[in-house]
Amino acid sequence: MEHSSNTDEIVRAYLESGGTDIYCDLIVPKKIVVEFVYDSDSVMAFEHTRQLAQYHYVVAPKKHVLDINDEFYETVQTEILNAIRHVLSLIPYPEVGARVESNLSAFQNSKHLHFHVLGGESKSR
Ligand SMILES: [Zn+2]
Repeated sequence: MEHSSNTDEIVRAYLESGGTDIYCDLIVPKKIVVEFVYDSDSVMAFEHTRQLAQYHYVVAPKKHVLDINDEFYETVQTEILNAIRHVLSLIPYPEVGARVESNLSAFQNSKHLHFHVLGGESKSR
């Protein structure tokens, strides 16, 4: 999916202004247009705007949950796993390989629970 430069500019400006939660601040309120590949009441998934691998999706809850130790995580965990399984169905991972990652604390750029689902070869940053 092609992301408009307008979306990139909005995200860049948001991050430069000190924003730390693009999910609650930009994506859920539709301040940027993101095409969901999985869209349920509680969870969304979409292609990452900066592809770090041949296939790169993000899975996140629509309500604010900080990380898997957040007290509200259990309310979304089944849906998160359903979404991850759906995204994996979009990746020919038996051939190219895949991994699922979630960063926490200092490694978490956006302070909102999200899982990166990556498939195939990594691309340089
Ligand atoms: Zn949030």
